[in-house]
Amino acid sequence: MSSDSIRWVRFSHVRLPLATPISDAKVLTGRQKPMTEVSFLFAEIETRDGHQGIGFSYSKRAGGDGQFAHAKEIAPAILDEDPSDIGKLWQKLVWAGASVGRSGVSTQAIAAIDVGLWDLKARRAGLPLAKLLGAYRDSVQCYNTSGGFLHTPIEEVKENATRSLENGIKGIKIKVGQPDSRLDLQRVETVRKHLGDDVPLMIDANQQWDRATALRFGRAMEPYNLVWIEEPLDAYDVEGHAALASALDTPIATGEMLASVGEHMELIKHRSADIIQPDAPRIGGITQFLKLATLADAAGLQLAPHFAMEIHLHLAAAYPAEPWVEHFDWLEPLFNESLETRDGRMRVPDRPGLGITLTEQARRWTVASAEFGKRG
Ligand SMILES: [Mg+2]
Repeated sequence: MSSDSIRWVRFSHVRLPLATPISDAKVLTGRQKPMTEVSFLFAEIETRDGHQGIGFSYSKRAGGDGQFAHAKEIAPAILDEDPSDIGKLWQKLVWAGASVGRSGVSTQAIAAIDVGLWDLKARRAGLPLAKLLGAYRDSVQCYNTSGGFLHTPIEEVKENATRSLENGIKGIKIKVGQPDSRLDLQRVETVRKHLGDDVPLMIDANQQWDRATALRFGRAMEPYNLVWIEEPLDAYDVEGHAALASALDTPIATGEMLASVGEHMELIKHRSADIIQPDAPRIGGITQFLKLATLADAAGLQLAPHFAMEIHLHLAAAYPAEPWVEHFDWLEPLFNESLETRDGRMRVPDRPGLGITLTEQARRWTVASAEFGKRG
């Protein structure tokens, strides 16, 4: 069997504007400014035999230019290589930029290529990515996040929740972590009352509590039957999370801000979370996510990947224990295809690969692009 080879790669830096400036607890505590756009790094790959793949990574607030710049510097390392040998190519890309480390901007740039190679492999096999990996289910229960941010007045949060449920989404997550916890308590009470007892509800403090506040608020939350409390503490406080997870009946979820499998291993080792929330683009792509998923499964953890449902739906479908996928409508203008939600679940598309193609609008939002190699 003769092997194929990568002959062309194009990177596009796309800036997706958000309809409304977005605030979570990090804005209310003064650590960040409201978010007005999300930067995407798309990698389009083509092989000598004419197979194609598309992958993406992203960055919020800062880092979009950095991801694009790093990808350009390391890209020549994969030209003429066999696109099937994804693990080997991941290592080659890491070594090409080894002096800037194995997490953060460097591996987030690699993630776009890695996701593109997995998309290519699945498309060549004629299978949805979930099927290529080995799916446990053809749909994943999903919950909405984009309707419950802190800049949104509570009446609107309630309307957004109702609309999500009507659109076939099963659970509702709202943001907490404001400097005045009483305001958080009021919002949780109001939303729980609005939803009734049967709708799955989650809360997310975006790392803005100290240990005492997290424990007090977590205890006050026990009667609300939450599916989880997300990021109660600083993302790297593995011991604090472990103490909280053992003190509370409500499950603890965290991990979205971590930037490598190694960082996630600390969470697993310390039993810091009941539900792990990796983000494939943030930890270096699908190759890394799969390693982590194996470790998390072996440790008996539940999985609820962060953001990027277009990628994570496939990865969650291939996780043994019933996972959750996070529904965000922000990325919809970027893709010609939309994901179907019905009866509380997001369906894995039957299109090969990730099942996404870029819209003309995404092309118009492209602020920079660079090509390597030659297209056929
Ligand atoms: Mg979160």
